[in-house]
Amino acid sequence: MATTYDLIVVGGGHNGLVTAAYVAQAGLKVLVLERREVLGGACVTEELWPGFKVSTAAYVNSLLRPEIIRDLELKRHGFKMLPRNPSSFTPFPDGRSLMLGPNKAMTHKEVAKFSAKDADALPKYEQMLERVASFLEPTLVQTPPNPWSFRPGNLLKLAKLGMGFAKLGTDGQKAIEILTGAATPILDRWFESEQLKVTLATDAIIGAMASPSMPGTAYVLFHHVMGECDGIRGVWGYVRGGMGGISNAIAASAREKGAEIRTGAEVLHILVENGEAVGVALKDGTEVRSRRVASGVDANVTFLKLVGSSELPPEFVEAVRNIDYSSASLKINISLSELPDFTSVPGTAAGLQHRGTIHISPSMNYIERAYDTAKYGCPSEYPIIEATIPSVLDDSVAPEGKHVMSMFTQYFPYKLAPGLSLQEEKEKYAERCFDLMNEYAPNFRRSVIGRQVLSPVDLEKRFGLTGGNIMQGSMSLSSLSFMRPVPGYADYRTPIRGLYMCGAATHPGGGVMGACGYNAAREILRDAGRRASKAPA
Ligand SMILES: Cc1cc2nc3c(=O)[nH]c(=O)nc-3n(C[C@H](O)[C@H](O)[C@H](O)COP(=O)(O)OP(=O)(O)OC[C@H]3O[C@@H](n4cnc5c(N)ncnc54)[C@H](O)[C@@H]3O)c2cc1C
Repeated sequence: MATTYDLIVVGGGHNGLVTAAYVAQAGLKVLVLERREVLGGACVTEELWPGFKVSTAAYVNSLLRPEIIRDLELKRHGFKMLPRNPSSFTPFPDGRSLMLGPNKAMTHKEVAKFSAKDADALPKYEQMLERVASFLEPTLVQTPPNPWSFRPGNLLKLAKLGMGFAKLGTDGQKAIEILTGAATPILDRWFESEQLKVTLATDAIIGAMASPSMPGTAYVLFHHVMGECDGIRGVWGYVRGGMGGISNAIAASAREKGAEIRTGAEVLHILVENGEAVGVALKDGTEVRSRRVASGVDANVTFLKLVGSSELPPEFVEAVRNIDYSSASLKINISLSELPDFTSVPGTAAGLQHRGTIHISPSMNYIERAYDTAKYGCPSEYPIIEATIPSVLDDSVAPEGKHVMSMFTQYFPYKLAPGLSLQEEKEKYAERCFDLMNEYAPNFRRSVIGRQVLSPVDLEKRFGLTGGNIMQGSMSLSSLSFMRPVPGYADYRTPIRGLYMCGAATHPGGGVMGACGYNAAREILRDAGRRASKAPA
């Protein structure tokens, strides 16, 4: 059979689409095959109810790399950010509330309601995170060095990394603590008010099967300052039309550059001949040949299901089997007839309290207790909720006067304790989330028109995420950088010649960054001898 494509990308998640766009831009013939009828993977908009357009998985953006927005001309292809100000609102049981946001004067005043000392400390804490982030951020769009290789190019990369670390001076110690440590002791050292600490701590546990007192959780605190929204650092926003606005813009750019994209095209096997990837076999029985294959699907699915362990070295198979896919994130997507009327900041007209992330999680101990039961496979009695209502800033996602709400909640374990029924537990847990929201906004329950509950098992079925892990694998230090997806294979290549990884399973991991796809494209083009001027630098 003749070679038809230069590259087949398995999976039309946003990273796979980024790879396709850059590789097509360099003049190669590219085909993207997406299993679902809709593109975007976990960065998607779906019309769940007529007129209600829902970001069914990811719901806020800041991390998407500016070089991708620029190179792929995403704004011309319809991508538009809607920055949020304030960025968060946390109501408390005593009727008080805390708003944080890019407006420094407002944030100072809000934090000072709880602690004048914390109000002064917060900008210094953010500056410390920014200094450490300035060391880490350039590494996001670089292929990680391989510490086991003595090749000159690799030693140079390691030296550059060492120099960047040296430049941090005594902040280096803080960088190591943030990369390896727990969020709670860091927050305890900086702040005294429970209200501020708990609002910041929820950043640390997003998507993790962990509580903030556990090592490894501090790393995600960076997300508070990382990324940007229309050039403003640390600001998170909604995407007009929902998160699918990102994936659709990347897809439009990729198509313009000549990439072919098919939906409803599930890959059953990656074809391997003599240790080399030569194409794919689809569920409909057809085979498509290509010189190279890149997978945007997680490592477990790619290697153990699509390739098959018999084609791979046993130690590699073992490393893939050891990837941590534990998860306890449950997403509830909701259509609303009116906005929540919070007791602490009343009103159903769109107000500051509705714009940012609404945190329902009143204390650090509350989070710890919510996690305790999850350890034993039991969903939290009192879950942690991060709710967002993008329709407050985006009139294109709900009919006039109506709204869409996204509830990202924890902890609902993927593996339930023996005897618990997934269906029953899922509905009871969703009811508890609704009861909680109702305690803070008593009109909430009666305003609900429709709901979709996605447990980790549903996330796995719908988006192909093993274990329902929202990041295609844990984001703890032992699974990052040169150890992602597994040690020795962080350069987007795999033990199979011509097979690459390009999704969140690779460095720098989960989140809507596009960086994994961008880095993978660079390596694919390098191997193809096409270091075209427009390839990622
Ligand atoms: C519930 C949830 C909430 C999140 N919230 C946020 C957030 O607010 N902000 C943020 O930045 N990040 C968030 N994330 C993380 C972020 O969405 C992901 O890390 C990111 O979208 C991963 O993109 P990807 O392209 O690497 O992979 P994916 O999005 O996982 O794409 C992989 C694609 O491969 C397809 N596929 C799988 N198997 C096959 C096959 N056999 N054949 C063909 N196609 C196949 C899948 O259908 C999917 O489209 C969230 C994730 C989830 C699940």
